[in-house]
Amino acid sequence: MSTLSDFPRVSDALLRRLDVPIPRYTSYPTAPVWTESVGRQGYVAALSRAGRERPDAPLSVYVHIPFCRERCSFCGCNVVIARSSAKADAYVGALVREMDIVAGLLEERRAVSQVHWGGGTPTFLNERQIEGLWTAIERRFRVLPDAEVAVEIDPKVTTRSQLALLRKLGFNRMSMGVQDLDPEVQEAVSRIQTVEETRDMLETARELGFRGINFDLIYGLPRQTPQSWTRTLDQVLAMSPDRVAVYAFAHVPQVRPNQKRLPVADLPRGLAKLELFRLAWDAFTGRGYRPIGMDHFARPDDELAEAQARRALTRNFQGYSVRVASDVVAFGISGISDVGGVYAQNAHSLARYQDAIAEGELATERGFACSAEDVRRRAIITQIMCNFHVDLGESAERMFAGELERLRELQAQGLVELRGSELDVTPLGRIFVRNVASIFDAYLAAERPYSRAV
Ligand code: SF4
Repeated sequence: MSTLSDFPRVSDALLRRLDVPIPRYTSYPTAPVWTESVGRQGYVAALSRAGRERPDAPLSVYVHIPFCRERCSFCGCNVVIARSSAKADAYVGALVREMDIVAGLLEERRAVSQVHWGGGTPTFLNERQIEGLWTAIERRFRVLPDAEVAVEIDPKVTTRSQLALLRKLGFNRMSMGVQDLDPEVQEAVSRIQTVEETRDMLETARELGFRGINFDLIYGLPRQTPQSWTRTLDQVLAMSPDRVAVYAFAHVPQVRPNQKRLPVADLPRGLAKLELFRLAWDAFTGRGYRPIGMDHFARPDDELAEAQARRALTRNFQGYSVRVASDVVAFGISGISDVGGVYAQNAHSLARYQDAIAEGELATERGFACSAEDVRRRAIITQIMCNFHVDLGESAERMFAGELERLRELQAQGLVELRGSELDVTPLGRIFVRNVASIFDAYLAAERPYSRAV
């Protein structure tokens, strides 16, 4: 019998059947089914209700800082290319005005258990802008003493002085973009970042007292070979980050035209791509890291590993966490808020975002109001994606007859085990956990997902 740390054998036929375009389920229902009919007014109503009905419940705050100095050709994020931090002055001003509007609607509800600055590159901001933005958050929200305060870092553009400032302000977690350390792969994706730069930043962060330090790696990039990837994994293991995210590269040039610059012929695909994930799995679990959720690994003493062992792991758009609040308020372009069962996404364009805020309005452009049924399915999908286990409850046979039938097919393929109303995802099913979760997705036909299962 295979254990959690054994990487299961995947046949070519199974891979061909299951490696189809499928959502990552960072939300449910997923973004492609959201519409403009839930816009600014829907979000305003959700914020007012959330403030009135749960004035003491903590919030998660996400701030999107979209600027980067250059566009990496593999990038799948919503970024704005700019050379000088002066370009961010107007944007930081708009963020602060947006916070004023949202805080006003939330009334007394201001406690925050999680803050996340993502991008783009948050440290594109200079120290004056970083301090100004943080002060604005603290003046409008009450960041709890044990809050998780995280920032995404690009080692190439981040100075020691910026990191020290972030730490002094209260940031205590960080996630670093690494992707791959091989020079040929880096050249193919137009992102050159030496091992020394990565190591220096990690050591500085540790000295300053950051915890839960995460590296983002990507498998499936052009020119990655088992040999080059093994070297990258060895170099990463030598640095021993607390957490590692090993994402499958999503090649989606139809939505990210910058990916058209990639040497497509050099992309590993199918079993060759999966082999890269297996190498990562073996490397990290072989050194005692625990596999977390779909594609993360954490040292056993890390809080994510402890939470998963208790089946208490949760996640939101910013990733896995143990401190996810029930509601997320997001600021900045393309930011996604999730308040009281309403998803609300801001404008993707800098101009449309800044124009709306300048007029004293929120910049929401689309969203979704979840029904009770959506909320029920979302809870099941989250359990499957985070903890690989869910109890569908006493009425499972009545409510999910069709789903149970399809789960029995997955059981025959070795992906899940069903015992009464309880569902466990097997080690093989972990590789295809998005396929398992999709059984409970009532909108799958309408979703047009772009990235594949592996
Ligand atoms: S630094 Fe990160 S966000 Fe910016 S372009 Fe590169 S991959 Fe995208």
